[in-house]
Amino acid sequence: MHPSTFTPAELAANQKHRRWLDIAPRADGGMWQLPVLCVRGAQAGPSLTIFGAVHGDEYDGPEVIQRVFEQVQPAELRGTLLMLPVCNVPAYEAIQRCSPIDGANLARVFPGNPDGSLTEQIAYWLTEKCIRGADMLLDIHSAGLAYDLPNLVGWTHSEATHHKAGEAAARAFGAPVLWAHPAPVPPGRSLSAADALGVPSFYTEAPGAGRVSAETLRIFVRGVFNLMHHMGMMNNTASPVPAPAALELVGNGNLDQTVLAPCDGHFRAEVGLLQSVTAGQRLGAIYDLLGNVLSDITSPVTGRVVLLRALHRVKTGDGVAHVV
Ligand SMILES: [Zn+2]
Repeated sequence: MHPSTFTPAELAANQKHRRWLDIAPRADGGMWQLPVLCVRGAQAGPSLTIFGAVHGDEYDGPEVIQRVFEQVQPAELRGTLLMLPVCNVPAYEAIQRCSPIDGANLARVFPGNPDGSLTEQIAYWLTEKCIRGADMLLDIHSAGLAYDLPNLVGWTHSEATHHKAGEAAARAFGAPVLWAHPAPVPPGRSLSAADALGVPSFYTEAPGAGRVSAETLRIFVRGVFNLMHHMGMMNNTASPVPAPAALELVGNGNLDQTVLAPCDGHFRAEVGLLQSVTAGQRLGAIYDLLGNVLSDITSPVTGRVVLLRALHRVKTGDGVAHVV
């Protein structure tokens, strides 16, 4: 169906729904389509939207969303759970972060453009049909193929009502690492589209590497149910108690602003995720194939290592570490 005719609130109550939204024609015939999983509760209530695979090489979203869709019982649900297991279908098919069709990063083009490139059209329909009118947006990311990140939730920190609501939801989710990002939201994100519409939002990150661990799956599926309890979407009264967070971080979450490789080579990290480091401390090095150091990699700031390059081969300009 064309997304202009799709209205989640008009889907039958007390049922699970599977839909394909037609976005644009494919060069090889057929349509570029977005998969939609929607659970309509037996009773009216809040609307929660969850995105997966906004980046095409991040598999936590589809893995978590499909599990949640299997487990949610419409009879026990109040409101509407709207989930897109894979938002960036072209990038997902190509097993890469950005779209092979227009080269765009879906997480940099929100709120999109209905007359723009394919990625801009996807962002537009996600904004208009899935974020607008929602009571909460959760965007599930991960470290992708080449990186490593801890299981974490992040939100925009300010005294604004919708930021406070996003923070409360992120804390209720129950991840081991919490990350508060001072407002404003950088442009182009699903979270910035939500922000412009006054919709509370938060996001998650996970280790990535093309797989989803049993631990991540356990934390995130439980997290979505914790979130629905928090939002008053679950009829059963047994409210879960999220595990206390191990670590709370504050700082810039733009993972594009990582320490970059100054040369091609073979990267080897010497620190671990979440390790405390000081400004100027060596984080690792880039070697040639004879084991000679081509370049030391040092931390620009004092803080915690939150992202590391996991794929050893690096090219000039690749991110290798991020310290907050
Ligand atoms: Zn991502």
